[in-house]
Amino acid sequence: MFNRDFQLKQLKSTTHLDMVVIGGGASGLGIAVDAASRGFKVALFEAHDFAKGTSSRSTKLVHGGVRYLAQGNIKLVTEALKERGLLEKNARHLFKRQEFLIPSYQWWHKYYYGLGLTVYDLLSKGLSIGTSNVVSAKTAKDKIENLKPKGLFGGVTYYDGQFDDARLALNLAQTAVNLGAIVVNHCKVINMLLDENSKINGVEVKDTETVEILKVKSTVVVNATGVFSNKIMKLAGRKKKELKIVPSQGIHLVLDKAFLKGSTALMVPKTSDGRVLFAIPWHNKVVVGTTDTPIKKPSYEPKPLETEIDFILDNASEYLTKKPTRNDVQSVFSGLRPLVAPEGDKSSTKEISRGHKIIQSESGLLSIVGGKWTTYREMSRDLVNEAIDLYGLRKVNTKTKTLSIHGNLSEHEKEKLNKELWYYGSDAVELDQFIKSNDSYNQIIHPKYNFTKGQVIWAVRKEMARTIEDVLARRMRLLFLDALAAVDSAELVANILQKELGKSEDWKKEQIITFNEVASVYLI
Ligand SMILES: Cc1cc2nc3c(=O)[nH]c(=O)nc-3n(C[C@H](O)[C@H](O)[C@H](O)COP(=O)(O)OP(=O)(O)OC[C@H]3O[C@@H](n4cnc5c(N)ncnc54)[C@H](O)[C@@H]3O)c2cc1C
Repeated sequence: MFNRDFQLKQLKSTTHLDMVVIGGGASGLGIAVDAASRGFKVALFEAHDFAKGTSSRSTKLVHGGVRYLAQGNIKLVTEALKERGLLEKNARHLFKRQEFLIPSYQWWHKYYYGLGLTVYDLLSKGLSIGTSNVVSAKTAKDKIENLKPKGLFGGVTYYDGQFDDARLALNLAQTAVNLGAIVVNHCKVINMLLDENSKINGVEVKDTETVEILKVKSTVVVNATGVFSNKIMKLAGRKKKELKIVPSQGIHLVLDKAFLKGSTALMVPKTSDGRVLFAIPWHNKVVVGTTDTPIKKPSYEPKPLETEIDFILDNASEYLTKKPTRNDVQSVFSGLRPLVAPEGDKSSTKEISRGHKIIQSESGLLSIVGGKWTTYREMSRDLVNEAIDLYGLRKVNTKTKTLSIHGNLSEHEKEKLNKELWYYGSDAVELDQFIKSNDSYNQIIHPKYNFTKGQVIWAVRKEMARTIEDVLARRMRLLFLDALAAVDSAELVANILQKELGKSEDWKKEQIITFNEVASVYLI
């Protein structure tokens, strides 16, 4: 049952586990699904909420990476395109086939990018989701009405996948539980347990709601904490120079849909400083990003820099007739890439490997770092394979290649889905009935949006939401879509949570203060 109390009860009645996974982002959740589907006894602990870290702050692309192709990283692109094709089948409810346009303001650009994207199409082999095309200026303007017309020679269209990252994380957590894993959010790993040979044989976790501390024994302990990996490695007695994670910040601005007319996304392959810029329709808004700024210390709510905001606004204004200003930004969200730095590199993060690495520390901790959301399944498979080899677990092959993720639908079912509740996938039917079961459940939580009170209750009862932020940032994406509207909705959501979770008035007040503090980072 996907219920926190139930999961904790299961944990307390389990004496030994094959694997403990630290971190409930794309990597950790993928590993829990892979290991549980092979029949291993697994528990996953997430210090905050599923996808609280980088995994809710991506550009929301399931992609091979056109930019990595330009860098000649064929292996990375081919693997990611394969994973893109598999995710389209295994999480059809969340996967959107998205058309992109690369506009061309120099006549030869469209042929240059056209050629590159033909290679991109070919690399996707049997898992293509649509072919690229060189298009005229008129077609380019038809696709994005408010594209700057002056000097436009046409462009290239191509397809990639798009998804809701926090929702996929939740669905992976649900899949892991369906497969028998124990999954708990708001539970922080605070220490390692060691055997007589100083080898790790478990973890100490703190339930951050009750502050109860539990000792959990396990054959393998996996560190999947992204940019926080260094901290866990230190708990495991890391030697100073074992590995270096370089956090690189990327921010996104969320604008009204009117800034990108039509359903095609804009892709600028080379901005003023050589980066890639996307403007993508998402949940009826436009997400514009991103940046690549080396950051010294990781944090849970990384702050966008003024220079990053200006960079995105300036570059988007170069291509769009309706030029966005700071006043048009409805939300700004920042994420940290956990990049693995090559020895001795201290400079730019743009060229650091986007591939993943698995490292075994002397004390036996198995860490996984780097990679992309798109390749989470492949990363997870590699880690579990490695764990089998290193720790003598039973040899069982991965089963995730064709494993349906919670919420998955057939093409036919997807077409019939309630359009408002599309991201719930197969849960949408039951949720719809639930909302209709009580008149008050249909009440919306903010006059500008269709999110209902029923969805908040559902998030608590069925999706392990524990805080206002869990609901407004990740079960619904209101904080990411319109931060001011999220702040306005906080009290109503807090009232529902208080009642559903049986909390005190003081708890509610503190919740609202905490949420407003978090939300202030999303407001310009
Ligand atoms: C700006 C940006 C854009 C991106 N865009 C894309 C994209 O479009 N497509 C794509 O494929 N990839 C994209 N990525 C990459 C992708 O988002 C990341 O590779 C992925 O989300 C990393 O997941 P993770 O699980 O390794 O880390 P995280 O998501 O950060 O998860 C780590 C988790 O560990 C938890 N944790 C930390 N310490 C503890 C502890 N002591 N106990 C328990 N839990 C703990 C944290 O709370 C956190 O939830 C992007 C990344 C960024 C930054």
